[in-house]
Amino acid sequence: MMEENIKCIVTGGAGFIGSHLCDFLIKKGFEVYCLDNLITGSQKNIDHLLANPKFHFLKHDVSSPLPGKFLNEIGQIKYIYHLASPASPSQYQKYSIETLLVNSQGTYLMLELAKKHSAWFLPTSTSEVYGDPLEHPQKETYFGHVNPVGIRACYDEAKRFSEAITMEYVRKFKVKARIARIFNTYGPKMQKNDGRVISNFINQALSGKPLTVYGDGNQTRSFCYVDDMVRGLVTLMEKENLDGEIINLGMPKEHTIKEIADYIRKVCQSSSTIEYLPKTEDDPSRRKPDITKAQKLLGWQPTTPLQSGIQKTISYFKGL
Ligand code: NAD
Ligand code: UDP
Repeated sequence: MMEENIKCIVTGGAGFIGSHLCDFLIKKGFEVYCLDNLITGSQKNIDHLLANPKFHFLKHDVSSPLPGKFLNEIGQIKYIYHLASPASPSQYQKYSIETLLVNSQGTYLMLELAKKHSAWFLPTSTSEVYGDPLEHPQKETYFGHVNPVGIRACYDEAKRFSEAITMEYVRKFKVKARIARIFNTYGPKMQKNDGRVISNFINQALSGKPLTVYGDGNQTRSFCYVDDMVRGLVTLMEKENLDGEIINLGMPKEHTIKEIADYIRKVCQSSSTIEYLPKTEDDPSRRKPDITKAQKLLGWQPTTPLQSGIQKTISYFKGL
């Protein structure tokens, strides 16, 4: 169904997941307002959309109030997707204060906008709210095991604040918000140098450099392809009667980092070796989502196998 004249805001829309989300929403016929300060994203990710009259890009830091001109001209907004935030450990540690602000002040400002427009609101939270989890797999009911003052706290605690303030706007002001807890997501348009494991390993394998495994490589992650994630986010946003729901979105299949390194070396036919580097501080040792709630409430689950997702990601990086 084409969604004529319905307006969406996507903060962080020039980033990895955000740019795929903008593509998807434009294809569905929405009018899309992408707000991004390009701190970790790239205008290249949205270049192909700039000529589309239904796509609007405003370079803006969403931790600051929106310009009056924009607010006066935008008209009625139906959906606000709040993705703006550095997301990879190296980026959020580099931009720690910015990360704290965009998930606190930024979320607050977007919630105020949602309240004013009676818009539906979806902030992208993260599996990091579970910290280094003592429960496995992680269900939405788990409160987490987070170091509140460690080097990942600028992200983990900021996302926990973002969830808390969102829930208060649901309780106090009946804002139609639902929270996505995203688990590791990968695919084309990941930033080549933002330090995440899939992009690091592919680029290292393609250039014959050693694959850098932090720690012994026995830590696990579960990887979801970006197209599946975008489908999950949009379903979560548009479904009725989900106000105040928190839902895990991710691939419920766990791999060790060493397995991922071996697999990527094999499919890239790479002669790269593996270099073991020190484990990073507070690195979660296991992570896998329980997605029963998403399956029941959204009828959603990822369908892209790791093999084909990795292949598409390799093709993307080869083409850069
Ligand atoms: P990304 O870094 O590629 O995209 C984030 C975008 O937000 C970038 O374009 C960046 O420039 C923009 N941004 C950051 N601060 C901003 C600000 N103050 N004002 C305006 N724009 C700002 O990261 P991503 O992987 O696409 O992540 C998107 C969202 O999903 C983030 O909120 C992240 O926390 C969440 N998430 C991602 C993953 C994952 O595996 N990719 C996992 C869990 C949660
Ligand atoms: N990792 C690694 N080598 C790298 C990048 C990451 O061994 O070059 C590990 C990292 O220590 C973590 C996992 O891979 O255990 C996932 O890291 P990523 O930064 O992609 O995401 P995280 O889940 O930690 O946010």
